[in-house]
Amino acid sequence: MAAAATNLARQNCIPKTLRLRDANKDVETEHALCAVSTSVARAKRILLVTGAGISCNAGIPDFRSEDGLYAMVKKEYPTAVVKGRDLFDAILFNSPVSVSVFCTFMARLRSCMLRARSTAAHKFIKHLYDCNRLLRCYTQNIDGLEGQDGLRLGVEGKSAEVVQLHGDIHMLKCTFCGLKVSWSKEQHDALESGNVPECHICSEKAEERTNAGKRCPRVGGLLPNIVLYGEEHPDGDVIGRCIDSDIKSRPDCLIIVGTSLKVIGVKKLIRKMAKAVHDRGGVVIFVNKGSLAVSSWKGVIDYHIETDCDEWIDDLRRRQPSLFLKQSTLPLRPTKPAKIKPRQKQDSIILAGQGNASQKPACRENISRDPAATRITSTKKRKAETDTDLVCGINNTNQARPLKRTSGLTTEEFDDALAARMRSILKTKELENIINISTG
Ligand SMILES: [Zn+2]
Repeated sequence: MAAAATNLARQNCIPKTLRLRDANKDVETEHALCAVSTSVARAKRILLVTGAGISCNAGIPDFRSEDGLYAMVKKEYPTAVVKGRDLFDAILFNSPVSVSVFCTFMARLRSCMLRARSTAAHKFIKHLYDCNRLLRCYTQNIDGLEGQDGLRLGVEGKSAEVVQLHGDIHMLKCTFCGLKVSWSKEQHDALESGNVPECHICSEKAEERTNAGKRCPRVGGLLPNIVLYGEEHPDGDVIGRCIDSDIKSRPDCLIIVGTSLKVIGVKKLIRKMAKAVHDRGGVVIFVNKGSLAVSSWKGVIDYHIETDCDEWIDDLRRRQPSLFLKQSTLPLRPTKPAKIKPRQKQDSIILAGQGNASQKPACRENISRDPAATRITSTKKRKAETDTDLVCGINNTNQARPLKRTSGLTTEEFDDALAARMRSILKTKELENIINISTG
């Protein structure tokens, strides 16, 4: 009931715009930025949607800004394309000239992307993954910079932490048979010259059929494996299943970084994810240099942080330094030991002797021969002996249990303890006399 009321109230909330530069002079902005950072630090299943903005600091131009890709294309090929956007639209295949321009431009863009190095924003994604806080990152980028930090890229959730919504420029795909290959030097040179390299699989099949006197089939060309506007996504179903699965995993935070939110498919994706996050009481954060049409995102985005992506990462690090600690450097917190059964306790001691408590032993006999395991077991035995001493020692003389000779006591001390113990248990005059005789 409370959650439903909260969601109803949220539907009418417009995104709150925060500017980092205002934090020092505006208390409300400062408090809101603190609230945002706390929400991120507390989140356990974070979804990210990223765009070209996270790669700008790596030297890769974005699409829509004044010095972005669209403007660059229009400036370089003023007669070949009407608008820069046309070079990323499937209509380019209507003209051999625009196809040639597309090939040259993509080869140069890929060279630029190969020289680029991942930014603070990319490393933050990897850090969230390392800390088991990343549910998934969905990127509109085709540069694959996340891979430099060790994240797996692809379209399928089981094999990728970063789902590439618009393809991967570092792969070529046959326009006929769908073969995917990495770029070779020859293919790069052909594309940079404005030519489409032939698919070798299609070529071999065509040659075989020609030699057999059969009709020659079509031979496909190899083009960058990216999804253009107006094209149906070849992996749309696979990505759709991945999104559904992630939403069922109950995400508690959505961070949208470095995108202008102009692509219709991405806008739908964000609305779907935001609803799932709000159902869990989480927040939706949008980080981008550009402005946001706040009325269009009422009830979807909670905060718009208007700044450079990496600057926000720095701000987050300043406010939540512990969020950026590596697992190995996290402070040790005293925790109450869990109650475990004797058999489980034995297992955990033997595993600790292996040096890696997370690995289940393949064979218990092998582990028991491990010197470290033996040492720990011996320590445990000594501890158990010490415990026995304490139970049966002087401190426990009021308890009605058998008194045994304790290794740390002299004969006199032991006798005194025995006497005191017996007095407390059997307070008879006769026994007192016996005691006086024996200790006298
Ligand atoms: Zn082919």
